[in-house]
Amino acid sequence: MTLPPRLENKFSELLKRYPVKRSALVPMLLYTQDVFGYIGDEMVAEIARRLDLNTLQVTETLVYYSMLRREPAGRCHVQVCTNIACKLRGGEKLWEHAQKRLGVGHKQTSADGVFSLEEVECIGACTGAPAVQVNYDFHENLTPEKLDKILDEFQAGRKPSPAPYIIGSIHERHPAEAPVISRRFGIPNSRKIDVYRKHEGYQALEKALNEMTPESIIEEVKKSNLRGRGGAGFPAGMKWSFVPKDSPKPKYIIANADESEPGTCKDRPLMEFDPHQLIEGMVIAGRSVNSYQGYIYVRGEYRYVLDIMDEAIREAYEHGFLGKNILGSGFNFDLCTHTGAGAYECGEESALMESLEGKRGYPRIRPPFPAVVGLYGCPTVINNVETLSSVPSVILKGAEWYANLGPARNGGTRLFCISGHVNKPGIYELPMGFNLLRMINEVAGGVRGGKKLKAVVPGGSSTPALKAEECDIPMDFDSLAKAGSMLGSGGVVVLDEDTCMVDFARRIMKFYAHESCGWCIPCREGTSWIKKILDRFHAGGGRAEDIPLIDEAAKNMFGRTFCPLGDAAAMPTMAIVKKWRHEFEEHLNGRCPYKPLDVPVGV
Ligand code: SF4
Repeated sequence: MTLPPRLENKFSELLKRYPVKRSALVPMLLYTQDVFGYIGDEMVAEIARRLDLNTLQVTETLVYYSMLRREPAGRCHVQVCTNIACKLRGGEKLWEHAQKRLGVGHKQTSADGVFSLEEVECIGACTGAPAVQVNYDFHENLTPEKLDKILDEFQAGRKPSPAPYIIGSIHERHPAEAPVISRRFGIPNSRKIDVYRKHEGYQALEKALNEMTPESIIEEVKKSNLRGRGGAGFPAGMKWSFVPKDSPKPKYIIANADESEPGTCKDRPLMEFDPHQLIEGMVIAGRSVNSYQGYIYVRGEYRYVLDIMDEAIREAYEHGFLGKNILGSGFNFDLCTHTGAGAYECGEESALMESLEGKRGYPRIRPPFPAVVGLYGCPTVINNVETLSSVPSVILKGAEWYANLGPARNGGTRLFCISGHVNKPGIYELPMGFNLLRMINEVAGGVRGGKKLKAVVPGGSSTPALKAEECDIPMDFDSLAKAGSMLGSGGVVVLDEDTCMVDFARRIMKFYAHESCGWCIPCREGTSWIKKILDRFHAGGGRAEDIPLIDEAAKNMFGRTFCPLGDAAAMPTMAIVKKWRHEFEEHLNGRCPYKPLDVPVGV
């Protein structure tokens, strides 16, 4: 089959990237869709032929990923996020408005073929909520009027520019911030290698290659108390030390850029504004475990970020920071990007590796852990983007300096994404252990409209919400754990006094029910049944016996599933039932006593 040259070139390039052909499957499918608008039978057969697969293998993978389509969509595919951060700022009203304006519903296409519409889960624009993606472009801080203007432009055949990305760390740095990994944000052309090098870029790599051994790099990272920023908080140096030195197999470094925990959108600016910092961290990680190959797994929705990373990788090769004999040290390291195609589950490290191997993102049973048996059955280090982006600072400025930025056992700083009912949502880099109330009241400008604080989700949708009176707390892994919650992925979602916690729990569970891969029964059944009960409950059909039933169903998921998604769905639900039980009881009179959450606000 003859393909358009653009797609042919992309396919050939993809086939060179991986030691196993099938790994190219998901990117090939997504690029096919970019060209044809969908993936038809002919292309399924063609891709299968090129990858030595059968069409069933291609199709069963294709249907797993929510971004991949078997039917054509409109020329402008409008995706409206209604997940928690968007919901709190009017996402559901915006969704209703988009349906009325376009005259179509979820996954429908307008008669003229210009628009198709989809209600989507978190797209990683939480601090710019409510947000919409049209094709791959982000449009943030929307109101119905602003959305109308954007749609008018598309209707007229023009392409409106995506709204500028509003984040605290660029536009309004707060005096309490401690910029380390975001210190180059806001410098013009910060993503270019020359600018990066003018601002300490690649100096840590020189030090690591010329003055340090692999063992001393690991020791330095251990001493820095750098803990995984993806959610679990596992010490990064310890993780690296588990890779068997004497293994004859290749070793891999993977950056997990599949950021999709609702409330979290900090890996996006890290790659957008400082892609070389991530590359440098990955080469140093590679050196520490004697790896020669790295992959950056970027969520499919972040297409422009993928392009930025590709360009930065090209520059790094050109300047000798990737490839053979880096800086004359004899060390070789190759790096490339890999795109996902819409699956929250692929943020779990073993599911991500399955996806990178060209399969459905089903998690693997562990042990063995990835450090020993990871990608292609080989030892693999997999770390979050923020974790790897922190490594150059640890190496350049020293473990002691880095560790001292935060409290004991919690080194460094964090990018906190503050969203929801605050005056200044944004991404702010603060020392680990920064007080949560100060974060809300001083850094993020306080609760919007002078309202009282009701609750805070401290680290992404899976972390148990804190009541207002629990929020005078240092934001570090250990303090949050002691308070019965988690620091998670740094997504701080603030809820004011008018928020209905039953409705909030319902929206969280809708997300997990949508994202459950269905492999294990407690998660598959638990998430969908709890969602159904919460839907009914919030709509006024609640019964007193539903309250313990919701709690019991969540408890039955907790600790009984193959991967952490079951726990992620159970934990916030159990916390809300326990702490806001009275709100469930208030719904028993047949109606929600709270005002609708979502009047679109924009900025
Ligand atoms: Fe799949 Fe849920 Fe089980 Fe994870 S917990 S493996 S998402 S069914």
